[in-house]
Amino acid sequence: MTDVTGFPVSVEFFPPKTPEGVDKLRLVRQQLYALKPEFCSVTFGAGGSTQEGTFNTVREILAEQVSAASHFSCIGATRERVREQLATLRAMGVKRLVALRGDLPSGYGTGGEFQYASDLVAFIRAETGADFHIEVAAYPETHPQAKSPESDLQAFATKVRAGANSAITQYFYNSDAYFRFVEDADALGVTVPVVPGVMPITSSTQLMRFSDACGAEIPRWIRLRLQSFGDDTASIKAFGLDVVTDLCEQLRAGGAPGLHFYTMNQSAATLEICRRLGI
Ligand code: FAD
Repeated sequence: MTDVTGFPVSVEFFPPKTPEGVDKLRLVRQQLYALKPEFCSVTFGAGGSTQEGTFNTVREILAEQVSAASHFSCIGATRERVREQLATLRAMGVKRLVALRGDLPSGYGTGGEFQYASDLVAFIRAETGADFHIEVAAYPETHPQAKSPESDLQAFATKVRAGANSAITQYFYNSDAYFRFVEDADALGVTVPVVPGVMPITSSTQLMRFSDACGAEIPRWIRLRLQSFGDDTASIKAFGLDVVTDLCEQLRAGGAPGLHFYTMNQSAATLEICRRLGI
């Protein structure tokens, strides 16, 4: 039997907005540490909304002796501001960044001195050498603003060539899209690990809302089954666990280098999926 217990997982949190949320996340982290995550990542709000919260959460994770990755977006930012924030992260002892373009909240316009995530990756490498392990985002189902799947794949290759070490994908429920993306990237000579991002299904409305915004496809059969459960959250959760565990099994069997869980600051679904996977 293959030893699956050491299969690498990482988990993602968002910075809580209230003191109660901070306390709850502390508890959730302790529960998820049972998985021995390779790292915990913390999202970053473009335009300044949650940046202090990101750094505070990252500080807490590091103080808990766990490896933390700070997401870091560049849209609307100046080089000087990015330089200062990199210095702060370095002083905090952060070793891993998830480098993103980000999306500005509506009303912020555009502007800033970076256009794409690849500009940020190149800047981080120029400023800090090999100090950080840099992750970038990958989109097996194509980023919603991309001109075409081909141009999006080229954009991914550009980010990696600018100095990214590995990638985490947008979530998806169709493993073929992931395997095809990895194969296509490989054909371009882009061979960094591409870790699938996994979104547990715990609520139908929340999933539909997120997926519309980020361009992740919910396959028709999943959408219809979720709709058919109405307000029956127990059935939604039970179905979600089955679907997402199957997806993770396919990904692992097909050679995915690890799994990155979008926990939404909840532990139950991620823990149960990993328990079923034997992780
Ligand atoms: P880019 O790689 O710059 O791509 C953005 C678009 O530009 C794509 O359509 C791409 O095809 C196109 N493009 C890139 N380069 C070129 C080029 N040279 N010429 C023409 N077109 C080009 N958002 C947050 O605000 N905070 C977070 O913490 C956060 N974490 C995330 C974590 C992961 C793992 C993922 C997958 C996404 C995350 N996001 C986050 C969302 C992300 O910021 C958005 O998807 C954003 O719209 C794109 O960011 P990017 O880094 O992928 O951008």
